[in-house]
Amino acid sequence: MNTVCIIGANRGIGLALVRAYAQRGDNVLAVCRKSAPELESLDVEVITDVNVVDNDAVSSLQQRLQKRNIDLLVHNAGILLRDTWAEQDEASIRLQFEVNTLGPLRTVRALKDNLKSGAKVAVITSRMGSIEDNTSGGYYGYRISKAGVNMVVKCLSIDLQPEGIAVGVFHPGYVKTDMTGNRGDVSTEACAQNLVQRFDDLSLETTGAFFHAKGEPLPW
Ligand code: NDP
Repeated sequence: MNTVCIIGANRGIGLALVRAYAQRGDNVLAVCRKSAPELESLDVEVITDVNVVDNDAVSSLQQRLQKRNIDLLVHNAGILLRDTWAEQDEASIRLQFEVNTLGPLRTVRALKDNLKSGAKVAVITSRMGSIEDNTSGGYYGYRISKAGVNMVVKCLSIDLQPEGIAVGVFHPGYVKTDMTGNRGDVSTEACAQNLVQRFDDLSLETTGAFFHAKGEPLPW
C-alpha cells in the first residue's frame, strides 16, 4: 500500500484521483481548501484549509504531516481565468501564476522531507502551456502559468534526481469538470484511470517528461 497525497482533492480531476487510489487500496491524503460531501464519503484522510497561494497554510500542511512518508505527491490544484489579446487583467495573470506556477513549487518544497528515495511527484499542467503546441493565442495568464510550471517541473526533475525522486508533468486531456463548464471529451473517472497509469510508469528513467494522460509525449 502506497501513501498518495493529492493537492486539490475536493472536486474535478483531483476528487476522481482520490477515488481511484482509494479503490486501489492506497492510503490517500486528500488535501484541499474546503472539503466536499463526495470527498467525505470516501475512506481517506481529508486535510483542509490548504490554500496553495498561502505559504503559512502550506507550512501548516507540512507540520500536520510531520515525518510521514509520501510515495506519490500529486499537485492537481489549478485555476483558469479566461482572457484575450483585447481584454487582459494583470491581477488575473498574477493570480494564475501564484496558483498554477508557484503553488506546485511551494507544495513540493514544503513536503520535500516527506519524499524519500523512490518517491514520485506528479504535477498537473495543461497542453495550453506548451509553446510549440500554441496555435491559437489568447489565455495569456493560463498559458504563461502552465508554461512556467512546466519549467518548474523540469528543474525539480534535475534537482531531485540525485535523491532518487522522479518528477513528471501531465496534461489530463479535455476533461468534463467545473473548469470546462462540464464540456470535454473525457470523464473525470476515465481521466483519473489514465493518469494513474502514467504515474505508475513515471520513473527516474522518464523523470522530467511532459506526457498526455493518454500516454503520448507532448512538446514543450
Ligand atoms: P476544477 O476547477 O474542477 O478543480 C480545481 C481544483 O483546484 C479544485 O479542487 C480547487 O479547489 C483547487 N484549487 C484551485 N485553487 C486553489 C488554491 N488556491 N488552493 C488550493 N486548491 C485550489 O478543475 P479541474 O479538475 O478540471 O482541474 C484540475 C487540474 O487540471 C488543474 O491544474 C487544471 O489546470 C488542469 N487541467 C484541466 C483540464 C480540463 O479539461 N479540465 C485541461 C488541462 C488541464 P477549490 O474547490 O477550493 O477551488
